[in-house]
Amino acid sequence: MIEKISKKKVKELASIYDVQDTFISLYLDIARDVDWKFISFRENQCISALKTNKKLLDAFQNNIKTVMKYLEKDLKTELVRNDFKGVALFVSRQLNYFEVIGFPHDIKNTMVVDTSPYIRPLVQLMDEWENYAIILINNNEAKLFTVSLGALKDRKRLAAHIMNKHKKGGWSQMRFSRLRREAIDHFQKKVVETLEKFIEHEKIVGIVLAGPGEAKLHFKSELPHRLSAAVLAVLDQDMDQPTEQLVESATIEVAKLERAKSNEAVTMLRGQILKGGPVVYGIKETVKATRDGKAELLILSKKLKPRGWICEHCQVVELGMKKKCPYCNNKTSEVDVLEEILEFAERSGTNIEFVDENPLLEELGGVGALLRY
Ligand SMILES: [Zn+2]
Repeated sequence: MIEKISKKKVKELASIYDVQDTFISLYLDIARDVDWKFISFRENQCISALKTNKKLLDAFQNNIKTVMKYLEKDLKTELVRNDFKGVALFVSRQLNYFEVIGFPHDIKNTMVVDTSPYIRPLVQLMDEWENYAIILINNNEAKLFTVSLGALKDRKRLAAHIMNKHKKGGWSQMRFSRLRREAIDHFQKKVVETLEKFIEHEKIVGIVLAGPGEAKLHFKSELPHRLSAAVLAVLDQDMDQPTEQLVESATIEVAKLERAKSNEAVTMLRGQILKGGPVVYGIKETVKATRDGKAELLILSKKLKPRGWICEHCQVVELGMKKKCPYCNNKTSEVDVLEEILEFAERSGTNIEFVDENPLLEELGGVGALLRY
């Protein structure tokens, strides 16, 4: 069964490891079709690299069989019920592990054979595409949407009958205005209640308010503090704006904020370094802090992939290449060091911020962390 991507699932994946390179992580873009050529290309590459070790080669070939069987048979059936653009398979028959995760987003084809599931693309996806809600509102109508990983998920429409013009008749203009205001307030209260349910249910981190004219601002001023603090952006939009366009405009705003948040994290890191506050930076220190569960916020570069080695026995990760662990003499595995730091961080519930192109962070070794204490 394909599972939806979730924080819990990523944590589970981060906590699995073997002492041998037997784990296959396969990320596939399935927006059109499975790229079979890519799979067989990577399969051949891995076979060449494992040729000298019969045990690992057998394990790999068994795991690939499981992967292919799934892709050829079960995937199609599952996709009928779900609208995924990307999937990730995590397979180790040795550990009796098989998991497929789907997301509404395309992803770069990647196959990694390692001692543990390769989770970096998943974690990055979750950092870049946090769940948020959009409310398109005027005085008598509200449309609520939730956007998860950049794709529209749920929607709801609320409407009220509000008198717009004072028609001739018994009411004074003042009485009419008061009743109209009350009706609008009542309607907006209903929208707030619905919004609160949405937020609780879907783990929404922010809200984008949209609509024509003043109604959205009045709505904002009536929001309880917890919700008004979650408003990420306010957009002028027509009520009949096509949904795709609305989601696109909102997503641009949210992506801007996400970028600002990453840069702010680096600024915070620098500030704490200058003050001598509780921070670490550089690979060696950050490995230690995340492994010991001391990191509060892990900050890492999107583009750096420093090669290093891991000893799964000692849980030691260092830069460079070593065939045997200098501490216990067991065999090591070659790894992307930042991936290993990420796995430590996910295991201990550390917050993670990916950063795009930031010379300061690269100067600091591509990684750092604010510590809990
Ligand atoms: Zn060791």
